Amino acid sequence: MTIRTLRLSAALVTAVSFSGGAIAKPVVVPPAAHEFDLGSLKVVSLRDADNVLENDGKVFGASVAPSDVARVLKAAGAPTDKITLGVDALLVKAPDRVMLFDTGLGPTVHGALMGSLEQAHVKPSDVTDIMITHSHFDHVGGLATSGGELAFPKATIHISAEEWAWMQSQPDSEALAKIIAPRVKTFEPGGMIVPGVTTLSLPGHTPGHVGYQITSEGQTLVDIGDTAHSSIVSLAEPEWAIGYDNDEDLGETTRRAELKTLADGKTLIFAPHFPFPGVGRIVAEADHFAFKPQ
Ligand SMILES: [Zn+2]
Repeated sequence: MTIRTLRLSAALVTAVSFSGGAIAKPVVVPPAAHEFDLGSLKVVSLRDADNVLENDGKVFGASVAPSDVARVLKAAGAPTDKITLGVDALLVKAPDRVMLFDTGLGPTVHGALMGSLEQAHVKPSDVTDIMITHSHFDHVGGLATSGGELAFPKATIHISAEEWAWMQSQPDSEALAKIIAPRVKTFEPGGMIVPGVTTLSLPGHTPGHVGYQITSEGQTLVDIGDTAHSSIVSLAEPEWAIGYDNDEDLGETTRRAELKTLADGKTLIFAPHFPFPGVGRIVAEADHFAFKPQ
């Protein structure tokens, strides 16, 4: 292992702390690929890991008590002492390009993404475009190999201009930013970046956090990124602050507004942290929301 690799690995593993000092506990999972059609596109949800959090008020319920969080979990029939999040990525196969939306945790923490891609019959060198929702490690960690090389050597890496500037300014992301810089193409959110893929500004979780709206033959899927983390807590109590959000107030405003938009539109969504495969719809229930898996 070279010194450069050692430094990179240390930086990547440090970054698993995400933001806000909350320590994530990635759990190794077997690879899995869940394929479905969206118009003329083949869409595949790719499993990478699980992230198990103690119900200790550090992430969920940062503005309430763990007992309040436990009440919500219990009502949903889930364990009350911990919260399990999926860590998934999305693959979209179009006739002229292969697009990957986020890249999971990567090899330094044994993410299963590469095995899941193999199940989808895609090689890393087949990927032409990578769309990044934001620069937290569980979304960008898979951009580099354990040797510090580009994991997807031919792919253009699309990231919002604001997020790219922020990523480069974060000490934990510095090493990875240097590796990917030659392949990065930035955009201002709100427009179409490749045919059928429109970017949505969803700030708060990180400064330049975005979602992606994918459309084919009148069918639409929205990758919401980290607008909501738990399919239970984030929807039942969307106004509760979440420790992962860089700006908790803006994160809450964005979460509530986007969940309402998605529920009103009966929009099919992909949520990277909902239980695999993370595909379904948001429905409004009284003053809150719920997730209906597809
Ligand atoms: Zn995340």
